[in-house]
Amino acid sequence: MLENFTKIQKKQKVCLINLGCKVNQYEIDGILNTLQGEYEIITKLGKAEIFIVNTCAVTQEAERKSRQIISKILKQNIDAKIYMCGCATEHNSEQFLKTPQVQCVIGTFGKGKIKENFGKTGNLTQEISKEYEDNLLATNVRTRGYVKIQDGCNNFCSYCIIPYLRGRSRSRALESIVKEAKILSKNCKEIVITGINISDYKIDGKLALIEVLFALKNLPTRVRLGSLEANVITEEFLEKAKSIENFCPHFHLSLQSGSDKVLKEMNRHYTTKDYYEKVSLIRQFFPFSGITTDVIVGYPTETDDDFENTLTFVEKVSFSAVHFFIYSSREGTRASKLPQLNGSVKKQREEKLKIVAQNCKKKYLEKLLSKNIEVLVEQKVGKYFIGFSREYVKCFLTSKRDLTGKIVKAKVGKIFEDGIFVEEIV
Ligand code: SF4
Repeated sequence: MLENFTKIQKKQKVCLINLGCKVNQYEIDGILNTLQGEYEIITKLGKAEIFIVNTCAVTQEAERKSRQIISKILKQNIDAKIYMCGCATEHNSEQFLKTPQVQCVIGTFGKGKIKENFGKTGNLTQEISKEYEDNLLATNVRTRGYVKIQDGCNNFCSYCIIPYLRGRSRSRALESIVKEAKILSKNCKEIVITGINISDYKIDGKLALIEVLFALKNLPTRVRLGSLEANVITEEFLEKAKSIENFCPHFHLSLQSGSDKVLKEMNRHYTTKDYYEKVSLIRQFFPFSGITTDVIVGYPTETDDDFENTLTFVEKVSFSAVHFFIYSSREGTRASKLPQLNGSVKKQREEKLKIVAQNCKKKYLEKLLSKNIEVLVEQKVGKYFIGFSREYVKCFLTSKRDLTGKIVKAKVGKIFEDGIFVEEIV
């Protein structure tokens, strides 16, 4: 048995499969680093001996996909040894362990040590620590890299399963964040600050997200913030952010609903008036900033009037982009116990919001016409180079030279596809 185990360890091919959010992506990139050199690693489903699957449970659909990936693996690798981790394994480990090839499930805590579980079997989920688990470095990436600064959440929004799966909010030491960001800045042109609820990042018990931006202000990379909660936006925060040259003026400010009644029932801690004041404050300091958001349509208690309020409010804010999601009941959340709306009502509302969102985006892009912006070019598709501006607007441009991975100055020409066509300023 031991000699088999040693043989596997040395010459094995490991396939890493990730589902879900940016935090999961960061963690699987970190796991890759722990295996580098000792294993041959692939990150697309293929032939391998060992599989590590980082699962998601944010919706029923995400959890179904986490199960489904096992049969996809077994189609090509009937003798695979599968190690499952992540939110779906924390939510319900048994759903995976009934497949013989699934060696063990690890949950959301302990991913940095997954290699040490090779050869072990069963349910290895453990109690989630109150301390930040600082044993991953996701530095093996190009162009845009993620730095995780926080985990868990204390908000318990009534539709969200995450606090039950990732534990209480806990923050990473600032020095450790800076160390990783410095390594990343050697290969990357942009660093994205990520976490489950980065707005709750604390130092000595005090909200301190701005300290992270300050600590990274001298890096030769752009720095972008991941999804934010409205509470973090203050005059002081924006004043300080304005003084930081490498800060990207893009605020993904999660809204979820434009109805005060529904916000209360969702256990969201702001009103539309509070939210609008934060947006106005942002525009005071960053007039052309990208302000994007998430909206849930079809929350169980959402009436037609509530939804009309959401449409009106989204129009009033005039976001640069709106990500909208049909409410999906998550067993274990408070909202899942409420009578649910029927699917066609939710679908109709999604269609209506889509139109309002498109109009908002068009209005915002029109404001950028003829402006000079800075684009981080990520790839070439057909004849176009594609990248994102600091405001997180998708940009298309053409050039005779290879611009991939480069930051270029450009002038906004026209609205194009789902973004803008820009001309490089040489
Ligand atoms: S803030 Fe709300 S939606 Fe976001 S992870 Fe926490 S509970 Fe979930």
